[in-house]
Amino acid sequence: MTISRLRLQPADVGIGMTGQRARDRLVERLRSGGEATPAISDERVLNAIRTVPRHQFVDEALAARAYEDNALPIGHGQTISQPWVVARMTEALLEQGMPKRVLEVGTGSGYQAAVLAALGIEVFTVERIGDLLRGARKRFRSLGLNVRSKHDDGRIGWPELAPFDGVIVTAAGPALVDALIEQLAPGGTLVAPVGPANAQSLLCLRKDAEGRIERHDLGRVVFVPLLSGMIDR
Ligand code: SAH
Repeated sequence: MTISRLRLQPADVGIGMTGQRARDRLVERLRSGGEATPAISDERVLNAIRTVPRHQFVDEALAARAYEDNALPIGHGQTISQPWVVARMTEALLEQGMPKRVLEVGTGSGYQAAVLAALGIEVFTVERIGDLLRGARKRFRSLGLNVRSKHDDGRIGWPELAPFDGVIVTAAGPALVDALIEQLAPGGTLVAPVGPANAQSLLCLRKDAEGRIERHDLGRVVFVPLLSGMIDR
């Protein structure tokens, strides 16, 4: 298993709150697990988390907190997901084998997309808030990550480029979105949080070769809401 080579600056690999040691400690925490965060055991996922400089996906003022296992604000009332949630969703996506092409709904900071791209996955990501998407694109470029993105309401998916081996939704809707299930290839996996603000479940859907759907509940999570329409700024 090779992790895609990212373009890192000396400060990203050195010591200190944002260096390699901080990422290594985060990985050890994910590997051991905690009370509300069951252990992550997929070494491919842990390696990707070890590689991607999460502090570059938040405001400089928050960089020192980037390797705590918490969600952090990224502006526009949105958050970069908690590392454990990113790891758990990625692990679920990889369980049936490494997907080639994955669609993400909710680019946000771009961190989840970067973790997938670091695994060598071809990533397609959709964001409804223009400012957030522009910020994420800058990060993809500076890290040398090959991620395709578009500014749109992600609930329509990306029909022209479907089907996808994996679909990951990083905002919670009231129900699973049919268009996204349709754009999942046979043998593919979809991971999405579903439910109201105080009672969301992380659902994992598998589509078999005949198109039959199997569904698992991976447990309670907290996400920002999946909203309709687009915002320019
Ligand atoms: N994956 C992101 C998580 C960001 S939070 C990260 O790693 O940082 C969820 C994001 O979903 C927000 O940026 C929000 O604007 C976006 N979002 C919500 N509803 C959406 C929709 N219908 N289409 C596209 N993006 C949406």
